[in-house]
Amino acid sequence: AAPAATDPFAGLNENQRAAVEHDIGAAVSRPLLVIAGAGSGKTNTLAHRVARLIASGADPQRLLLLTFSRRAAQEMTHRAGSVLQKVMKLSPSAAPTSLPWAGTFHAIGARLLREYAGRIGLDESFTIHDRADSEDLMGLVRHEIGLTQTQKRFPLKGTCLSIYSRVVNSREPLEDVLKSSFPWCCEWEEQLKKLFGAYVDAKQEQNVLDYDDLLLFWAEMVADEELGREVGGLFDHILVDEYQDTNRLQAAILRGMKPNGDGVMVVGDDAQSIYSFRGATVRNILDFPKEFGLPAQVVTLDRNYRSTQPILDASNAVIEAALERHAKTLWTDKISTTKPQLALIPDEAEQARWVCNRVLEHREAGVALIDQAVLFRAASHSAALELELMRRNIPFVKFGGLKFLEAAHIKDVLAVLRFAQNPSGRMAGFRVLQLIPGIGPATATRLLDAMGTSSAPVEAVEAFDAPAKAGGEWQAFVDLYRSLRAPGLRWPADIDLVRAWYLPHLERMYDDATVRVADVEQLSQLAGGYGSRETFLAEITLDPPEATSDRAGPPLLDEDYLILSTIHSSKGQEWKSVHVLNAVDGCIPSDMATGNQADIEEERRLLYVAMTRAKEHLHIVVPNKFFIKQQAQMGDRHVYAQRTRFITPAMLKHFEETVWFNADTPKDKQKPMPESVRMLVRDRARSAWK
Ligand code: ATP
Ligand code: MG
Repeated sequence: AAPAATDPFAGLNENQRAAVEHDIGAAVSRPLLVIAGAGSGKTNTLAHRVARLIASGADPQRLLLLTFSRRAAQEMTHRAGSVLQKVMKLSPSAAPTSLPWAGTFHAIGARLLREYAGRIGLDESFTIHDRADSEDLMGLVRHEIGLTQTQKRFPLKGTCLSIYSRVVNSREPLEDVLKSSFPWCCEWEEQLKKLFGAYVDAKQEQNVLDYDDLLLFWAEMVADEELGREVGGLFDHILVDEYQDTNRLQAAILRGMKPNGDGVMVVGDDAQSIYSFRGATVRNILDFPKEFGLPAQVVTLDRNYRSTQPILDASNAVIEAALERHAKTLWTDKISTTKPQLALIPDEAEQARWVCNRVLEHREAGVALIDQAVLFRAASHSAALELELMRRNIPFVKFGGLKFLEAAHIKDVLAVLRFAQNPSGRMAGFRVLQLIPGIGPATATRLLDAMGTSSAPVEAVEAFDAPAKAGGEWQAFVDLYRSLRAPGLRWPADIDLVRAWYLPHLERMYDDATVRVADVEQLSQLAGGYGSRETFLAEITLDPPEATSDRAGPPLLDEDYLILSTIHSSKGQEWKSVHVLNAVDGCIPSDMATGNQADIEEERRLLYVAMTRAKEHLHIVVPNKFFIKQQAQMGDRHVYAQRTRFITPAMLKHFEETVWFNADTPKDKQKPMPESVRMLVRDRARSAWK
């Protein structure tokens, strides 16, 4: 007999249940905010509510789930699905036929803009620029309007793009953004205005959108009352996770779609707001109750289901020291006698070895690699560890870098697809044309100009008088381009056409072609998972703007692997054992942030996010020597580092301190440490006994 089905909502606590049951069956579902600390079940509650809504008759296709990454969206859909399955065992009539819309704001924006393109004066064949393309276009425009030639000290293209992006996302005037975040660029305000104007024109001419445009156009679209009603009317419920990391534009989008806030539910934790450098503002979550026509219901949760009490005590201590008080101290019934560990290690190389040892010890003790993670401030900080892991044959996957998609050969393939999708996109076109031998920047520009003025791009390519040197290679490209532009849906066959065309070029251009060929093959496998060229291009460009997707890495033979992740990309996740690398001043807080107090406070929250990922074991590693990149001309160097200021002496009682010198290192390789450091280590060691 089938096992008796149990009520999937029975395990929820009272407040979680209140959020799940909020206005179910009522004519209007008032806006709802769940504001609560790490691991208190916010995401879980959201998933249960999705299931509850569907079980009570909501049409899944009229639910919109906005998450922080595609991974999070998949995870949430999966969680909701399994709750729903349990519900259906109880009442089989509630069978859902489809899945909710789920994804990041950017991905959903791309999808809606494609659908509404005609209505808002956008050409639906638009392509999306990733950060690198956007920077390059900014650089190009800057050059074209003569700012680089006459103004030697003018901010770099990356800085220009950051300023532009901050203005768009925060909806603040340029002047204010410059004053508050880029004070050294204030003198360039006039020139920047001109530059941004030209940048916007260039995007429009080329029919490309950058990341910010996806939100901006969406917000503008729904700011129109009629369109807002129409687009908002596609959904009965809009549910948002990690709301503390949204920006003003995202709040405006919600308001435009649902002016009254009916059906809107957001969850978040102000103590975990870590994206203000991208224009996110904690004001969104604090202002939510008064944001809409209807007043919002607010639910708080204070029970943590993730971590043991000692881990929670240490994390609470770190966040309670914040200047801005966060109104919650979490409790748990997971008692444990194991305190988080604070490990003092001589340097980063030893840190890597020490972490590997701990990871293997945990595995011996039954914690699979996949239940363990190593977290760090910046993607580059795991370099030493990656080497050590490879040396010891410990499989791992890294999140929070774009390595795979950043590789030149992958960018080449994507550029061909983009150029086929949108012939006006000059950045892609420029890249593609120069892959053909005999075609350089001047020729490429000439063709792009010809195409730009023609309404028939394929004919323009065919008619182009290519240099004789290009010969047969040119003809091969013309054939490819014609096939890719031919009407009809051939996805994912398109990518195989591109691959066949590209492989000979790849072999000609690179010595290490074998690895790259394998990457291209992997990309085309990946492509098979998408319905069309547009969705593939949009999703692969977008997800998420700065983290690798799970599938876009080297193929993993091993099922069990260690997770390496930046703290930013670890949001919302949990592991039995967590290591936090480089818990030193200059890293957390980053030396880039040591300027203003608000930046420093954000770094404190970052450490809090890292610590609260741990369920059972938390190791915080403090290398005494830490490699930093100097801002000025002094060059990169090692510095003697101090334990992060966020763990004050008064907090040491929450940790078990360990001082480690590697006994395996041959004596002659053990460099003596200067007296000052030995004293420091000894003092710290002693304080462990207090
Ligand atoms: P974060 O702030 O880190 O995103 P969160 O508040 O979203 O955390 P969840 O990830 O939803 O928290 O939940 C944390 C853990 O607690 C998960 O393993 C989840 O399954 C578990 N959990 C949540 N609610 C309950 C409950 N009522 N009973 C048992 N376990 C629960
Ligand atoms: Mg969560």
